[in-house]
Amino acid sequence: ADGVTVGDPAVAAAIARELDRQQNQIELIASENIVSRAVLEAQGSVFTNKYAEGYPGKRYYQGCAPSDAVETLAIERAKQLFGCAYANVQPHSGAQANGAVMLALTRPGDTILGMSLDAGGHLTHGAAPSMSGKWFNAIQYGVRREDHLIDFDQVEALAHEHKPTLIIAGGSAYPRVIDFARFRAIADAVGAKLLVDMAHFAGLVAAGLHPSPLPHADVVTTTTHKTLRGPRGGMILSNDEALGKKFNSAVFPGLQGGPLMHVIAAKAVAFGEALQPEFRTYSAAVMANAKILAAKLVERGCAVVAGGTDTHLALIDLTPKGLTGKDADEALERAGITCNKNGVPFDPLPPTKTSGIRVGSPAGTTRGFGLAEFAAIGDMIADVLDGLQANGEHGNASVEAAVNVRVRALCARFPIYPV
Ligand code: PLP
Repeated sequence: ADGVTVGDPAVAAAIARELDRQQNQIELIASENIVSRAVLEAQGSVFTNKYAEGYPGKRYYQGCAPSDAVETLAIERAKQLFGCAYANVQPHSGAQANGAVMLALTRPGDTILGMSLDAGGHLTHGAAPSMSGKWFNAIQYGVRREDHLIDFDQVEALAHEHKPTLIIAGGSAYPRVIDFARFRAIADAVGAKLLVDMAHFAGLVAAGLHPSPLPHADVVTTTTHKTLRGPRGGMILSNDEALGKKFNSAVFPGLQGGPLMHVIAAKAVAFGEALQPEFRTYSAAVMANAKILAAKLVERGCAVVAGGTDTHLALIDLTPKGLTGKDADEALERAGITCNKNGVPFDPLPPTKTSGIRVGSPAGTTRGFGLAEFAAIGDMIADVLDGLQANGEHGNASVEAAVNVRVRALCARFPIYPV
């Protein structure tokens, strides 16, 4: 009968530590966000107890009327949010959503064409260690050396040479708007289906501040927990209802068993929030904040991949400072700033070291940081990097401690989940 605080002190302590970390660190991981209490509450609800294999109105279990209601809400809100005809809200994650699309549209051994990991693509787009790289003949495109933008001449040439069944656009560390129409034309020319994975920028699309891939793609996948600010999970969208039937079968029974009804309830809440006018204001701030953060870091001697950002994330190239991403993200964590090391295009260093860091504004913007705060964060980052530059891989402990005081003061002014 007890809650976790009384019933399981060890787990309660870990949760308390995590809340304290989120309260007192500046979160710049571009794929993270801070959900509302309503999303948390829905995800922590009794829907976690329910088996509801199947889809609304066609379940394999009894007692599914409330599940039907909440899943229908999530589906209808998703369709309204993205202006599309079909939505499947059951994928447990972004990787599962991509897996289901591949299950529906391809057969093992088919050729797929996606962006390589080192150019900013995602593992599930055909990278060697993932199922997409092992079970398919995965061909990978990249970006141009001169401007770090997608090399469409290469995409076109590879598509004509290899005749993929599926072309995948989208990525995890690509800071610019993608030309979806160009991908559509290439897919049409070779008879491929086009999947756009908008996991990173879905919230910006929902807000109407980023071009939508839906008019161009056969199918769009996304996660629900990044810029969209919902629970961890995935989703499949399309305007092609006939294809939608295939995706439904691919998700269940193809790839998954029972849907996570508590997560679907939380997705419904998040989509409801994203339909409000405030979400557009929030998303506009996310983009403005990412721009000022990138600009500040350039002013302080870093380089920025692709010359800047159109989205919520920037890829900072530390080469001008002679630093590795690994040393930088570790020093920044010591100072209370969380981000991740990330390869830059044509990075000479391995993925365990890298020459860059990826920074994003969604979480900080949610807690209320604006332009002044993100400019200040840029200075804090640069101070830590300068400390590393002067002192080598172990950094400058006193600089890091002084920055941590500034980090904590800023976080205290913008508390999350205030009581
Ligand atoms: N697709 C893209 C573009 C992503 O960036 C990610 C996650 O980082 C995924 C898919 C996978 O999502 P998940 O971690 O929910 O499986």
